Amino acid sequence: MRLSQKVKKVLDKYPYDISFIVDGGIVFLEGKVEKHHEWVEIGLKVGQIKGVEGVVNDLSWEGKKRSKVERPETEIDNKLGAHEIVIIGGGIIGCSIARELSKYRCDVALVEKGPDVAMGQTRANNGMVHPGISPSKNTLKRRLNVLGNAMYDELCDELNVPFKRVGSLILITPRTLEGYRRYLPGPLYNIFLKYLLPWMVKKKGQRNGVKGIEILKGSEIFEYESVLIDDVISVVKIPSTGIVDPYALTIALYENAKKNGVKFYLNTEVVDFKKDKKSIEQILTDRGTIACEHVVNAAGLYSDEIADMAGSREFTIHPRKGVELLYNKRLEDKVDHCLAELKIPSHPTSKGGGINPTVHGNIIWGPTAVEVESKEDTSVEKETIHEIMERYSSILPDFPKTEFIRYFAGVRAASFTEDFIIRAAKEVENMLHVAAIQSPGVASAPAVAEHSVDLLKEMGVVLRPNENFEPDRDPIDRAADMDENELKRRIGKDGRWGNIVCTCEMVSEAEIVQAIDRGAESFDAVKRRTRAGMGECQESYCLLRIAEIISEELDVPLNEVKKEWDESEFFNGIVRGEEQ
Ligand SMILES: Cc1cc2nc3c(=O)[nH]c(=O)nc-3n(C[C@H](O)[C@H](O)[C@H](O)COP(=O)(O)OP(=O)(O)OC[C@H]3O[C@@H](n4cnc5c(N)ncnc54)[C@H](O)[C@@H]3O)c2cc1C
Repeated sequence: MRLSQKVKKVLDKYPYDISFIVDGGIVFLEGKVEKHHEWVEIGLKVGQIKGVEGVVNDLSWEGKKRSKVERPETEIDNKLGAHEIVIIGGGIIGCSIARELSKYRCDVALVEKGPDVAMGQTRANNGMVHPGISPSKNTLKRRLNVLGNAMYDELCDELNVPFKRVGSLILITPRTLEGYRRYLPGPLYNIFLKYLLPWMVKKKGQRNGVKGIEILKGSEIFEYESVLIDDVISVVKIPSTGIVDPYALTIALYENAKKNGVKFYLNTEVVDFKKDKKSIEQILTDRGTIACEHVVNAAGLYSDEIADMAGSREFTIHPRKGVELLYNKRLEDKVDHCLAELKIPSHPTSKGGGINPTVHGNIIWGPTAVEVESKEDTSVEKETIHEIMERYSSILPDFPKTEFIRYFAGVRAASFTEDFIIRAAKEVENMLHVAAIQSPGVASAPAVAEHSVDLLKEMGVVLRPNENFEPDRDPIDRAADMDENELKRRIGKDGRWGNIVCTCEMVSEAEIVQAIDRGAESFDAVKRRTRAGMGECQESYCLLRIAEIISEELDVPLNEVKKEWDESEFFNGIVRGEEQ
C-alpha cells in the first residue's frame, strides 16, 4: 500500500474533514478537530506509519493559540559576526555539538536566546543516563542512547563533572500485568512474572545492545535494594544506567567549547534567515545578523519553528510536560539505584518515570507525561503532586513521600514520529536538524554530537583535527568537598572560603565569586554553577546574600540583580541596609 493510502486509512477513522499531502516522506495535515488531544492522537497515529519521516500537523482545534517566534518588522542593522557553522540552541545538545566541533579546525558559534546555557528542557529533567533498554529497536534514539551511555565515563572525567553508574532496577510486581490477570489464571500469573517476563525484558535490552543485564529473584533482590516493597516478584538489573547533573554537564561543555574557540552569543534570539535560493546566508537575530556557511538547528521545543523559518517544514513538535518531585538530601540513603515498576501496557509515549537518586544526594520521583498545548506550560497542579506520590509509593511504601523540597516541570520536545530528527534539512542545503531530542536526550547527547558532526561532513563541511584541542575543564572547587586541612589552608589565603553563604549545601562566598568570574550574571546562573540555594531551605536564607555578592562583583545596584531573565529583578526599590 502506498504511503498516502495508509495515511488516508488512518484519517478515515476520524469524523473530521482532514486533508493531507505526502511529500518525500513528510505528511502535511490540515483541517480542524475539536480537541487538543485529538490533534495529538491523529499526529501520533500518522507518525507511526512505516515510512513517515515527519508529520507537519497543521490541524487546529477549538481555542488553539498559535506559538510563533516573533519576527521583527525590520531587520536590525548590526553585523554580529561571520562563522562557518552556527548552532542554534544552547541546551545539552547544542553545547555537546559545539564542543565536538571544537575538536576540529573550524570557526563555530552558538546562538542562545536565553541569558545562559541549559535554559530549556536541559534544566528540568531527571539527569538519568538511561541504558537504552526502552527505545524501540529500529529508532535512532535506541542507537544513540546505547552509544551515548557508553561515552559518559570519559566525557565526565575530562570535564570534571560528577557522574555515577548507579545501575537501574526494573521491578516486576503483582501490579505489572494487572489488566491481563484474567488471562493468566492462578499460579500461571506468578510463573509468568517470575520467569518469562524478566527474561523477555532482558532479551529486549540485549537486542538493543545493552550489556550486563541480570535477573534477580527472591532474597537477592532485597540484598541489592533493601527498601523495596516485599511483594516484588523479580527484578531486571541494568548496571550501565547512570546519573549526572544535566546543567552542570551542559555548563562544562559550554566552558570547554569556549576555551577551545567556540563563540557564544547569549541573549540572542534567532528570528529569521536570509537565503540565497536554497541556502542560508545570514541568520537574523534580535541583536543583529550573523553570516554563516552552515546552520545546526538544535532549538529543542522550537526546532520546528526554526525549520519553518528556514523554509524547510518537516515536523511539528508536540510539547509533553513532565512533573517531578525533588526530595531532601537527608533521604539519600533510602535509594541506591534508579527504580521503576514495570506496568503493561506501558505508557504509549513515555518510559513511565520512576524513582532515581541524583549525583548530589537528592532523590527524584517522576516524571509524569502529559500532552500540553503550550511549549511554555511548566505549571504544576496539586493533583499531579498527589498522583506522583501515589504512583511511586507502591514500590517504596516506607519512604517519607511528603518530604519533598521542590516540585518542578519540564516540557519535552516530542515529534509525532517519536524519534529524534537528526538529518540534513530537506529544503535547505546548509541546515542540519538536530531536533525533537526528547528523553533520552541527556543520555544520548555525546553520541548525538558525534553523529551530527559526521552528518555535517557528509553535507560538505571540511573538518580537519584541531591539534590544540584541550579536552579538560577545571571545575569550581567546592568547600563541601574539602577536608578540614584543605579548607583551613584556603581560608588562610582568602577569607571568603570561610564565609559560608548557603549553609544547606555548604557553599562559600569564594565559590560564588568564581561562578561570577566564569560568566554567571543572575541568581539562577550562580545557583546552577555552585548549588547555592538548592538545599533544604530552597534559598530562603541565602538569596539576599547571593544577590549582594552579585551586586558587588558586577557593580550593579542590588535592585537590578536578576533571578534569571530580563524583568525578573528580586527587589523593586532600595533594599534595607543598602547605601542610598
Ligand atoms: C521532565 C523531563 C525529564 C527528562 N528526563 C530525562 C532523563 O532522565 N534522561 C534523559 O536522557 N533525558 C531526559 N529528558 C530529556 C532531555 O531533557 C532532553 O532530551 C534534552 O535536554 C534536550 O536538549 P536540547 O538541547 O535538545 O533542548 P533544550 O535543552 O530545550 O535546548 C534548546 C535551546 O534552544 C534555545 N532556543 C530555542 N529557540 C531559539 C531561538 N529562536 N534562538 C536562539 N535560541 C533558541 C532554547 O532557549 C534552549 O536553550 C527529560 C525531559 C523532561 C522534560
